[in-house]
Amino acid sequence: MTDVKATTATQEAIAAMTASLPLQDRQDLEDATRGLIGRAARRQITAEDGRVVWDLDAYEFMRNAEAPETANPSLWRQGQLLIEDGLFEVVPGIYQLRGYDLSVMSVIEGDTGVIVIDPLISAETAAAAFALYTEHRGERPVRAMIYTHSHADHFGGVKGIITQEQVDAGEIAVIAPEGFLHHAIAENVFAGTAMTRRAGYMYGAALDRGPAGQIGAGLGQTTSTGTVSLIAPTVDIVRTGETLTVDGVEIVFQMTPGTEAPAEMNFYFPQHRALCTAENTSHTLHNILTIRGALVRDPHAWSHYLTETIGLWGDELEVVFASHHWPTWGRERAVEFLAMQRDMYQYLHDQTLRMMNQGYTGAEIAEVLPMPPALEQQWHTHGYYGSVSHNIKAIYQRYMGWYDANPANLWPHPPETVAARYIEAMGGRDAALAVARRAWEDGDYRWCVEVGKHLVFADAQDTEARALLAEAFEQLGFGAENGTWRNAFLAGAAELRTGSFGTPVSTSADLLQALTVEQVLDSIAVRIDGPRAWHEHLDVAWRISDEDRTYLVELRNGALHYRTASAVPEGTTTFTLERRALIGLVTGTLDLAEAMGDGTVAVDGDPSVLGRLVAVLAPVDPDFEIVVP
Ligand SMILES: [Zn+2]
Repeated sequence: MTDVKATTATQEAIAAMTASLPLQDRQDLEDATRGLIGRAARRQITAEDGRVVWDLDAYEFMRNAEAPETANPSLWRQGQLLIEDGLFEVVPGIYQLRGYDLSVMSVIEGDTGVIVIDPLISAETAAAAFALYTEHRGERPVRAMIYTHSHADHFGGVKGIITQEQVDAGEIAVIAPEGFLHHAIAENVFAGTAMTRRAGYMYGAALDRGPAGQIGAGLGQTTSTGTVSLIAPTVDIVRTGETLTVDGVEIVFQMTPGTEAPAEMNFYFPQHRALCTAENTSHTLHNILTIRGALVRDPHAWSHYLTETIGLWGDELEVVFASHHWPTWGRERAVEFLAMQRDMYQYLHDQTLRMMNQGYTGAEIAEVLPMPPALEQQWHTHGYYGSVSHNIKAIYQRYMGWYDANPANLWPHPPETVAARYIEAMGGRDAALAVARRAWEDGDYRWCVEVGKHLVFADAQDTEARALLAEAFEQLGFGAENGTWRNAFLAGAAELRTGSFGTPVSTSADLLQALTVEQVLDSIAVRIDGPRAWHEHLDVAWRISDEDRTYLVELRNGALHYRTASAVPEGTTTFTLERRALIGLVTGTLDLAEAMGDGTVAVDGDPSVLGRLVAVLAPVDPDFEIVVP
């Protein structure tokens, strides 16, 4: 779509917003390139099958280039900073690999080896990044791995650097905040398929790169598409003030649960006066609720923990670095950066509640609440990843839910039904299309997509309506300062034109293997086809031999329940197997008949009960439609 142009209305909207940008502040450019040691000669990172999972040159068209009319200059600038790839020195002894994935990996040198923080998303990108480190700093054994929090862009690449065997042998400690493993996989159990499909919109990994295409995601350029791995932590950090010395490096921890992730921690290196803030601060307004979908985060707690961070180390720290973006050097600047980030979340939280208590709804507050001028004049408080608009709606949602208390919104028709009625009310398809075209001519793309959405939901085959909707999405994307908004708009346009691009990443075998028995049972429960199952009543017992626990599972009224029990009621079929075999059965990598044949699974009772359970399971759809009904 490189021939697509920005309309005059889009260019005017961009010009109006550009006028207030702090263009004179060029500190980030200095910081994003400071301490560069070297860049990789090999620019494409491939998987075993030869597929490119990350291309360090994918955004070369942005380097030293003025923002094209098809991009918001503020987002363009953010992308230019994010493509500064290479090995960077933070301070002597602390290094970062940046530009290798959505996230950033840090390496701390100890007496005999290194500590690695947050090994990116994919084993392939992590291995390539670590190879660049080794090329410049020499072969140094990994003594410890730290995961700052439970999101996959902070652990998925771990097996590109270390092996499970090394960890099992006690050679390498894997350090993480308490609750890490549970939360790392919990997201995938309940809503994983839907979230991953929606992440394709948010990060735009399947979109073409280019001036009129994908130019970044604000937090990083996009997500790599290699092998997501996981090695379970061996050391849980549980309290603030806890101190570890690893390979001669002292680390002091601060727990920050319920901030950017449910399990997250900041930590300080006193010998370097360096603070790692995980993902609790970054060079963007972050998400209270990501547009891929998630539980709403707590900006009140987030802000509170940052106040605590400043109290703990604000008097002595000399540099702040995190697992996205570039560091901030100098005590005064670093503390002001922490404080500004903190103020931003607290302001959004408090002002949303103030206006909520004055009777405004989320959508109304999002439209009118101004940010303080001092925050507007910082780059790192701009909404490249989170946005003021969707964060305010998220805070409203956190306290009030989806319903705005207007009974007209309590029981509306669902999208397809309401679409048909709107089109009819507007005088039919041609008249409605004329309304959408007029909105296009007026540069009112928000109204254009509202009408266009109804046209397409009333008739998905209406090619004229689809084309107009796609064009309006593009203009909204071109104007967006927020990377995830731009990606979402352009993804919608792309799918209207060429159909679903599906889900660009695949499920991680390691993540599946880490499921607890409870999580496996939960994942079965959410796949039960209720109406098909509501006449089925069955009981089955699972004896998990390697955990020495028995689960009684009952399906009734379309709902699956489970509990642990010391005895199995008479007549209940019991399957005895290891946890991993249970996962194999559920994921289809293990065949029941074969497993019973070779003794992997032992059955006491009638095994056909399992067939009855499988018969009421519904498949998930990783390619479900979004912009068409
Ligand atoms: Zn992250």
